[in-house]
Amino acid sequence: DMRGNYIARRIMPVVDFPKPGITFRDITPALQDPRALRNSIDLFAERYDNMGLTQVVAIEARGFIFSAALADRLGIGLTLIRKAGKLPREVYSTSYTLEYGDDILELHKDSLKARDKVIIMDDMLATGGTMTAAVELVRNSPATIVETAFVCELLHLGGRKEMDRIGVNSYAICA
Ligand code: 5GP
Repeated sequence: DMRGNYIARRIMPVVDFPKPGITFRDITPALQDPRALRNSIDLFAERYDNMGLTQVVAIEARGFIFSAALADRLGIGLTLIRKAGKLPREVYSTSYTLEYGDDILELHKDSLKARDKVIIMDDMLATGGTMTAAVELVRNSPATIVETAFVCELLHLGGRKEMDRIGVNSYAICA
């Protein structure tokens, strides 16, 4: 889709960030560009309209941006997956390893019910470690996961193959 290419052109590679040898893809120019921001929400809204989703599950922090706009557009709720120690009530918790070290993700235990049909969203699919942990978290709940959704995918890192029996939907391919 041309709109995916438009978004991809506004994601800027930053060499040696946050440390030497890593190239970080900075999405902030895509957020600042009104057309890129609108395109990203339009693409998701077109796909997920009429799928019967009840919640968009969002991964902290950049996943929150797109998820909130999409949930509002679809007229459904927003469920947050947060880093350790941020959610105040009882949580499911999972630790995972990523490019820059270990981290923990949490989800309120009572946040998703058997009737819930959800997608899990983040800004970027890299190695897939973060989303794999998020899928594991949501699988503690009785909700149905339809697929995972990303604005951008770093194809060469092969994260898509890491996703266990879960679909991956992304619109911008970052080389
Ligand atoms: P993964 O776990 O797939 O290796 O990394 C994806 C997670 O780390 C996402 O939450 C994403 O926000 C963040 N991340 C990793 N690399 C990048 C990057 O180059 N750019 C951005 N914007 N986020 C990244």
